Amino acid sequence: MRAGWFRPDAGGFFGVVPRPLWSRLVEADERGRILCRLNLLLVDAGGKRILVETGTGVRMTDKDRDIKGVEGGDPAAALRAVNVDPASIDFVVVSHLHYDHAGGMVDVDGNPNFPRARYVVQRDEAEAAHGDELRLAGIMEREQLDLVRGAGLLAEVQGEVELVAGVSVLPTGGHTRGSQAVLLGTRSDGRDEDPGERAIFWGDLIPTRWQIPVRWTSAFDDYPIQAVEIRNELVARAAAEGWWCYFTHDSGELPIQIEATARGFQVRSEPAASPEPSTPAS
Ligand SMILES: [Zn+2]
Repeated sequence: MRAGWFRPDAGGFFGVVPRPLWSRLVEADERGRILCRLNLLLVDAGGKRILVETGTGVRMTDKDRDIKGVEGGDPAAALRAVNVDPASIDFVVVSHLHYDHAGGMVDVDGNPNFPRARYVVQRDEAEAAHGDELRLAGIMEREQLDLVRGAGLLAEVQGEVELVAGVSVLPTGGHTRGSQAVLLGTRSDGRDEDPGERAIFWGDLIPTRWQIPVRWTSAFDDYPIQAVEIRNELVARAAAEGWWCYFTHDSGELPIQIEATARGFQVRSEPAASPEPSTPAS
């Protein structure tokens, strides 16, 4: 499901990666920005309805929307567009508290967009938003967090937590102190569904398929060394076990799978086309 678009600065987005490399994948606009999706994931499991990510939301100034190149961004509108009532959401998983993931926790007036939901945020992330690190001042959605907390809807969690059977949040760090991914189809009671149905929503640990070469760190990664290590570990598992991958900012068809090759990890190529049907004998 898609909540719209935004345009992060290309240099910031690709961080240490030189332009001659990333410019083969995507073109920057005249303001040096690239067009990225705001993807949301809706999961129905165990009788519960889970929304992953909230987009930018619409509680931002016109100037801010212009600089960030936001189009749309309203997660409640995205749900209604597919006939899902925002009040039917039981859990909202926020991968981390940057504006393009957590801004849509509340509506334009600051009321929670999902009035019946528990908003699942790692405690480390909530604490970082209220910490005294200068780098984080102004880039964590502290106000949105506090509005949700004030409404009694915040569920701070610590570590890996299974929300319903087969849907877990997995802390990864790397991008931010308390970043979390979402694992689907892996159950703590061991009664896994078909291994072919396992999936992961990466949050900004891997924002698009372009970051599958695991050393492509972004300038927005607060802990780049940790990000590369955890990405490498999880991408190796994803490739070995055939996990389906969802990315928050990817513009292509999702999900995809990853494969390990002699040149590193890459998007699994399409399965070979089926052979031409043989001409029936007449
Ligand atoms: Zn992001």
